[in-house]
Amino acid sequence: MRARDAARTGLYVHVPFCAVRCTYCHFATAVFEHGLLERWLAALEREAALRAPLAGGTRFTSVFFGGGTPSAISARHFSRLWDALRRNFTLAPDAEVTLEANPESVRPALLDAWAAAGVNRLSLGAQSFEPDALRVLGRVHDEHRPGEALALARRHGFERLSLDLMYGWPGHTLEAFERSLDRALAFDLEHLSAYAFIPDRGNPLGDAVLDGRAEVVDDDTQARMYGTFLAWARAAGLHPYETSNVSRPGAEARHNLVYWLRREYLGLGPSAHSLWAGDRWGNVPDTAQWAAVLEAGEAPDVARERESATSVAEEVVMLALRLATGLRPADYTPLTWAAVERRFGAALAAAVSGRRLERTEQGWRVPPEARFVADDVIAWVAARGRD
Ligand code: SF4
Repeated sequence: MRARDAARTGLYVHVPFCAVRCTYCHFATAVFEHGLLERWLAALEREAALRAPLAGGTRFTSVFFGGGTPSAISARHFSRLWDALRRNFTLAPDAEVTLEANPESVRPALLDAWAAAGVNRLSLGAQSFEPDALRVLGRVHDEHRPGEALALARRHGFERLSLDLMYGWPGHTLEAFERSLDRALAFDLEHLSAYAFIPDRGNPLGDAVLDGRAEVVDDDTQARMYGTFLAWARAAGLHPYETSNVSRPGAEARHNLVYWLRREYLGLGPSAHSLWAGDRWGNVPDTAQWAAVLEAGEAPDVARERESATSVAEEVVMLALRLATGLRPADYTPLTWAAVERRFGAALAAAVSGRRLERTEQGWRVPPEARFVADDVIAWVAARGRD
C-alpha cells in the first residue's frame, strides 16, 4: 500500500525532556530532571486513559514519539509508556511507529527496548557533521556520533532510518552544508529532512538574530543550499515528497502525511495537538502545569475550537501545497472538497494563470522549480480565499 493511503490516523506522544537545550530550539522541552520525568509518565498514563474513549475502536496507522528527546528516557520508562498506549489504544497491524532520537543517547539496551515494543522507524537529529557548527548549535554529540548511532540501529534490525539536517544559521556556508549533506547521503538512508534555520524568540541563536547581533545566511545562499539538497538527494535515489523531506519510494513518513493530508490525530503530553472528530485543541504546554491538570482529574486542553468549513478549507490548501503531489480532490471527502472549492476555486485558477501553481492530472501543485518559495505561493493563495 502506498504511504499516503496507509496514513490514516496518527497518535503522537510528546516527550518533553532533553539532555541540554540546543541554541536554536523553539520546542516545549526542559532539561532532563528525574522527578519531573516520573510525574510526566504518571500523567501520561492518566491522559491515555482519559482520551481512550475518544479513540474508540480506531486502529491507528502511525505512532510518533517526538520531543524533546524520546531517546532520553530509559528502557524501563519507555516500556511503561508503551504499555499505557497498548492498554488504551489499538494499532493497525502494520502501523508505522517512529521514535525521534538524539544520536548521543542511542545505545544497545534502548534499541532492544524500542524494537521489542514495535518501534520500526528511527528519526535522528544530526543537523550538521561539522564540529564548529555543532558547537554553535549547542548539540551534545560530535560529528562522528550520528554515523555510529545509525550503524548501531542497523545492526539492531531497524530498516527505516531518517536523519535531520539544518541550514542557513548565522555563519553557515554553502560549502559546509555540502560537506554535511555528502556525509548524510553516504549512510544510504530511507529518509532525509533538511530544514531552514528560523530565528525564534527565547533561544540564544534566535535572540541574537532578532536583536541584530547576528545575521542569517542571505536568501540566495539559502536557495542554493536548498537546491543542492534536492539535487543531491535525487541523485542518491531519494525523491522530494514534501518541501523539506525526501525519501526512497514508499518510505515517506506516514505520520507526517497524516498531518499534511489533514487526517485525524490524537496528541498526548504537554503541548501536544489533536485534530479529532471536528475539534482541534492543544494541550497545556508547561510539563508541570499539564501534569497538575491531569492529577486533578481534568483534561489538559487549551484553545479548543470547533472546526468550520472556512478553517478546514484553509488548512487543506496550506498543508497540501507543501506536498510534491500537491492539492488533490481525491484526498478529501466531497464535503471538505466543496468547502475548498468555494473558498479557493478562484484563487487556484488565478495562481495557475499567474504560473504560481501548475495543474496536474489529479489537482494543483507548486512547480518543482519553485519549491524553495512554496511558502510564499501558499500565502498568496491563502490571502485570496473568498468568504
Ligand atoms: S534536541 Fe531537539 S528538542 Fe531538544 S533542545 Fe535540541 S532541538 Fe530542542
